[in-house]
Amino acid sequence: MSERLLIAGGLVIDPARGLEAVRDVLVEDGEIRAVAAGLSRRRDLQDAPRFDAKGKWVIPGLVDMHVHLREPGREGDETIATGTRAAARGGVTTVLAMANTEPPTDNPSQLALLRHAAARDAAIEVLFAGAVTVGQKGERLTEFARLRAGGAAALSDDGRPLMNAGLMRRALEHAKDLGLLLIDHCEDLTLSAGACVNEGPEALRKGLRGAPWAAETVQVARDIALAELTGARVHLAHLSSAASVAAVRAAKRRGVPVSAEACPHHFALTDAMVPGYDGDWKMNPPLRAEAERQALLEGLADGTIDAIATDHAPHGCAAKGAGLDLAPFGVIGLETSLSVALTTLYHAKVLTRRKLVERMSAAPARLLGLASKGTLAPGSDADLAVVDPDASWTPEAPFQSKSRNTPFAGRRLKGRVALTLFAGRPVHAL
Ligand SMILES: [Zn+2]
Repeated sequence: MSERLLIAGGLVIDPARGLEAVRDVLVEDGEIRAVAAGLSRRRDLQDAPRFDAKGKWVIPGLVDMHVHLREPGREGDETIATGTRAAARGGVTTVLAMANTEPPTDNPSQLALLRHAAARDAAIEVLFAGAVTVGQKGERLTEFARLRAGGAAALSDDGRPLMNAGLMRRALEHAKDLGLLLIDHCEDLTLSAGACVNEGPEALRKGLRGAPWAAETVQVARDIALAELTGARVHLAHLSSAASVAAVRAAKRRGVPVSAEACPHHFALTDAMVPGYDGDWKMNPPLRAEAERQALLEGLADGTIDAIATDHAPHGCAAKGAGLDLAPFGVIGLETSLSVALTTLYHAKVLTRRKLVERMSAAPARLLGLASKGTLAPGSDADLAVVDPDASWTPEAPFQSKSRNTPFAGRRLKGRVALTLFAGRPVHAL
C-alpha cells in the first residue's frame, strides 16, 4: 500500500523552480508526487490523509550545511538521535555533520561507523564531512578519494582552521579533482589566540581578551587567493565580518569559485547585547559589532552570502556555566534557525520570503550537489516544512537537543515550524 499525504492549501515557496503560489502538495511513497491547484478536490484523493496548510507556507525541508552532532565522543552533549530531532523541530531535514568528533572523522572506517549509526538513529538525513587533515592536526592530508568512496559529502577541518597555506593549496587541488566541496573555518590563530569575545570596546569594558575581525578576514583573503590560483571551489564557514563579506563579493565578481555561509546568531545579535559574562553567548567567531552585522545582512540580501547555516554546537551546562572567559565556544541553533531568520530577515524586510527560503534550502543543496533536496519539484524527496510565518513563540528549555546553550532562549521570535516531513513522514508536528 502506498503511503500518501496531502498538504492542502498552503503557500508553496519553491525558489529552485521560481514557484510562489497557493498549491496543494501530494506526497506519496517518500516522494513529492504532485504540486498543483485543486488536488484536494480530486475524487481519488478524497480519502487521502491531509494536513490543512491554509495561511501557512509550504517550503522545501531546510538543508543545514554546518552542524556538530558530538557523536562519537561527547554523547552527553548531543547524539545523532537528539541532534536530528532538534533539526526536525526546526524544519531542517538534511544536515552536514562536521568531522571534529572524538575521534575525528578522518578515515573511511570511522565514516562507516557513523553512517551506520545515522541509518539506525537519525530522524532526518545526515551527511558527514570528512576531515581535511589526519586527526585535524593540520599536518598531513587525509585520503580524500577513500573518504569520498566511503560516503563523505564534503571535506572540512571545521573547529580548527587550516593554518598552513601550502597544505590548503594541495587540499583544494585534490578536492577539485574529486569534485568534493572543501569548507574552511577561517581564523588566523596567531591573531585570535587566547580570545573569548570580539576585540573592541565591549571586550575592554569587561576586561576580556578579544579576537579582531581581521583574524577571520586574513584567512578569507588567503582562501580566495588560493581558489583563484587553483580554480578549486572553496566554501567559507560562518562569516562574521564586513571585510570578509566585501572580499567574497569582490572575488565573486572576478569569477572566483567561492561560496559562503552566515549563522543566525551572527546576523541577529551583536557583542553589545551579551549579558554579563554568560557563556551561552560565546561562540567562534564571536558576536561582533553592529556594523559587521549590517554587512552580513547586505551580504545575505545580495547573494554574496549563499547560505544560512547554524554551526549548531552543543555543550553541557557545566561547561557553559564557566562564563565567557572559560566556557567552550559554540551555541545550539537547529531548533531556532528558521524562526530567527524569519524574525531578523523576513519580518524586518531584509530578505523576501523567497530569498530566505532559498538561502536555507535550495542554496545549500546546490552547494552540496544534492539534486533531490532543497526543492519541491515532483520526483524529489518528500522533505518539507509547513511554516506559520506569523506565529510568535519563545524558545525555552527543554529542547530536543541534549544541550541548551543558546542566546535565543527567552527571546520572542516570530515564525514557527508547524510540521516537518522527512521522506514523506512527519518527524515534527506542533
Ligand atoms: Zn567553525
